[in-house]
Amino acid sequence: MKITHLELFHISVPFAEPYHLSKIYGTQHNAHAVILKLHTDEGLFGLGEADPMMPFTDETPQTVMAVTRDAIAPLLIGRDPVQIAMLESALDQAIHGNLTARGAVNMALYDILGKANNMPVRTLIGGLRHSKLPLLGGVGSGTPEETIAVIETQIETGCQCFMIKMGALPIADEIKRMLAVKERFGNQINIIIDANQGWEVAEALEFIDGINSCRPDLIEQPIRRWDMNGLKRIHDMSPYPLSADESLATIQDAAMLIREQAVDVFSIKVSKNGGIDKSKLIAQMAEAFGLKCLMNSMLEFGITQEASLQLGCTLLNLLDSGHAYGSVLRMSDDITDFGENISKSVVTVPSLPGLGVTLNDEKLEKYTRDYLKIDQSLI
Ligand SMILES: [Mg+2]
Repeated sequence: MKITHLELFHISVPFAEPYHLSKIYGTQHNAHAVILKLHTDEGLFGLGEADPMMPFTDETPQTVMAVTRDAIAPLLIGRDPVQIAMLESALDQAIHGNLTARGAVNMALYDILGKANNMPVRTLIGGLRHSKLPLLGGVGSGTPEETIAVIETQIETGCQCFMIKMGALPIADEIKRMLAVKERFGNQINIIIDANQGWEVAEALEFIDGINSCRPDLIEQPIRRWDMNGLKRIHDMSPYPLSADESLATIQDAAMLIREQAVDVFSIKVSKNGGIDKSKLIAQMAEAFGLKCLMNSMLEFGITQEASLQLGCTLLNLLDSGHAYGSVLRMSDDITDFGENISKSVVTVPSLPGLGVTLNDEKLEKYTRDYLKIDQSLI
């Protein structure tokens, strides 16, 4: 089998409601992604998805398309797609960074491998450890009343673990939100606080001090991603577990976070971390050093979500909480059937070959802003 050509679709889909994040990212109205169809000479094609987001990933849909055309496709066309390790090595040698572009390719290679062997990807990477996972509910920034209302709505669907977005408001207001949520729900729910880089070290410590006995289960990425010393200081002073999301992009980032003992949990995202292989390696590094993994998500669609689920269901060291497989529920529409795996705030792992996700071509066309076909003539 040989790779013949690639198709890239930059899609943009509005959120059902605007999503208020930290001051670093502001309010998001649309989710953007680049969908990859990786074609072979046997008529089989693999699906991949890149979920770039400035300034989180240092990539945009346009850079994903350009890097794929200029640097990635020339190393893929004419090659055997099932030789994933060799292709990854060749790409690693030629390309630094661009992890969401790399992730889309890695997902598509595994989709082809699974379809060619009539096996789900999770069987190819170790086999099932969890057939179902509980969903992590997402709660955007807002007033205490708005925060409680969003949580109440999701509790009705069976959700019991929530990621509350912070980092947009003054610390005194974020403390009030936390106290109000705890007063309303007590220990009925699990809470992860994600400040998405929105705080300074002193603000993070002020928050931790101010919430007193309102114990969150986890605090994620309170400060800017490059501030390893700051992360370590917060970790040393916090009675609550700390996780790295934006600080954890590459395998080398994982090694440094482990070496510095800066966090307790790795927030893994298959697109952000460069695909299934790199994400799995990061998860296994965490396992070896006694860290847990939160299967998290960018603002992503069903292909990345499915790739993440195929990996997450094989891992031993998952955090005992919800995991972020509800990204498509935030959208006004999805271009895949991933949502059919979700019922009552639980996601069930499908048994179909490959990634096990189906693309809706009509919806893909409807939401495509930009299209690029890359074949031998373009490289
Ligand atoms: Mg996060």
